[in-house]
Order: sequence, then structure tokens, then C-alpha cells
Amino acid sequence: MEASEAKSKKQGASRLCCLCNQRRAVLKRPKTLQQICKECFYDVFEEEIHQVIVKNHLFKSGERVAIGASGGKDSTVLAYVLSELNTRHSYGLDLFLLSIDEGITGYRDDSLETVKRNELQYGLPLQILSYKDLYGWTMDDIVKMIGLKNNCTFCGVFRRQALDRGAALLKVDKLVTGHNADDIAETVLLNILRGDIARLSRCTSITTGEDGPIPRLHTYAYFKKLDYFSTECIYSPNAYRGFAREFIKDLERLRPRAILDIIKSGEDFRIATSTKMPEQGTCERCGYISSQKWCKACVLLDGLNRGLPKMGIGRARGGVNGDHKMETKKPASATKSIESKKCGSLDF
Ligand code: SF4
Repeated sequence: MEASEAKSKKQGASRLCCLCNQRRAVLKRPKTLQQICKECFYDVFEEEIHQVIVKNHLFKSGERVAIGASGGKDSTVLAYVLSELNTRHSYGLDLFLLSIDEGITGYRDDSLETVKRNELQYGLPLQILSYKDLYGWTMDDIVKMIGLKNNCTFCGVFRRQALDRGAALLKVDKLVTGHNADDIAETVLLNILRGDIARLSRCTSITTGEDGPIPRLHTYAYFKKLDYFSTECIYSPNAYRGFAREFIKDLERLRPRAILDIIKSGEDFRIATSTKMPEQGTCERCGYISSQKWCKACVLLDGLNRGLPKMGIGRARGGVNGDHKMETKKPASATKSIESKKCGSLDF
């Protein structure tokens, strides 16, 4: 009897939050392996973000900051935490929500309703820009023309530029995006698998684009993927990312820290000084930042408007920028690089 009482007491004690020692622990943090309660998780989570902001001097008082808001959980948490910390610690920031409407019926139109609720909840002005207005095409139109094979390439390139255009419209000093750790780990792995040194070196950076029109701050935190909370894009073939995701999940089952370790490897990655990086210039057509004669969005858009949507996809020589051919049949290895394009929602 005494032994079983002691056992149940021990079990009860092990379920107490190791930070407050009062409430029941509801999760184990992969980062620290601590078992903590919901309230303490919120506290440490917000405090850690505040410390990162302070230590890295991410903001200056009086700055205008746009939060990339998709209506998904990552950007919703970001909008909440940033507006909360801005008030709590008097950062003195002017915050805005910036959303991009890709024109995906039943997906983005639903999530934009969440962003509109965030606008009211946090009292942050909201700017929505649509692919239709910016490029004359919705993703629904693009998929009708090109099918489900290369759609994410168009979407990712257009969204990246649309966010920069929105940020310029709002006259902000910085653009902030939120991501979860699973997605960052997948991106590190995908960049290694593609041999994309330029993206690998920046995909875990807090700040990118300092040489571009508007610096971007990328925040990420360890959220588990909550499938019931996120709506999958209906145009999401992304087989290559899907395999990477499954692989990482298998690793995580064997070693819970695997996701954080992959990110750490990405953070520690350094480019050898002998590696030649592309030089940044501006697109001759639209003036957007580009290392080529035309930026990627203009090349893709030109292909769409001319009824040649495969222009600008793949790595063959030729065309405006000398990096694409018009409608030539590519070997299997070339089309592989198309499939491997990540969901542009990460926007690295
Ligand atoms: Fe766009 Fe992402 Fe959907 Fe691809 S999966 S079409 S990048 S929203």
C-alpha cells in the first residue's frame, strides 16, 4: 500500500510544471526537455522572443514594421506576440498587417477572414494586395493554364515580390515574417538536397535583404504542426518538400531534438569566401531587385502573358536572362528542380 502510494505521488509530482511547481505540465519542450504548464510556456516563449529582439537590436523606436500575415498559425502568433511585446516593453513601433491574396478559392479567401479578425483584435491596420491587381493573374487562373506541376514556383516568386511591394506601399522600415521550426528544418534540408548554397546560407538568418528595398526579419519558434488548425493549400503538390517533411518527422520520432539540430546546423553553416555569390542589381523591366536582366517575377509573368508558361522555369540556358529556354522539352533532371520548389509561404 505504501509502495503504491509513493508511486502515485511520484507520478503526480512528475506531472507538475518544473518551472512553477504548481500547475500540471502539459508539454515537454524539445529545446530544454522541460515539462511545463501552459501558462509557463506562454511566459518563456514571449520572454525568449523579447530577448532575441533586444540582443539582436532588431528594432528602433519609431520604426514602421509590417507583419506578413497569411491567417495561418505562424503569422497569427507573430501578430499577437509582436503587438503584445510592443505594448509591454514600449518598443515604440508602428505595426501593420500585410496580407497577400494569391487568388486561391476556398483557401486564401478563408484565411484572409482570420487576418481581418486579427486586424480588429490587435487594432493593427491591414493592407491586402492581390496577385490579380499586381500581376493580372490569380493562382486559380495560373493553375488553369499550367496545371499543378510548377504552380508553387509562380506563387512563391510572386508572393515574395508582392510582400516587398506591399511593404513599400506602407512605407515600412522592416517586414517581419513568422515560421515554425518544422518548416525551417525542412527548408534547410531542401536547400542542402538542391545544393542551393545561397539560400542555405540565409534560410536561418534572422535578417535578410539588408541590401534590398526592405530588410526582412524572420522569426521562428518551435510549434508542432497542428494539422487541425491549418488548411492545406489545394494547389500544394510539393512532393519533394513532402518527402523531406516525412523524413524529418521520422528522425524526430527517434530523436526529439532532431528538428532543432537541423536548424542549428543551418545556423552554423558558413559560406566559403571562394564561393561566388550572385551580384544584386535591379530588374530592367520593373525595377525590383534582381541579379539578372529581368527579375524572376517578370520572366514568369512574360511567359504567362505570351501563353508560354514554362519560360523561366528550370536551369536551361537561353532567353532574356540567359537562364531559360522557350518551351523546350527538358530532361528529367531539369524538371526535378521545378518540383523541388518549396511553398512560397516561407519566402526566403
Ligand atoms: Fe502557393 Fe503555397 Fe499553394 Fe504552392 S502550396 S500554390 S506556394 S500557397
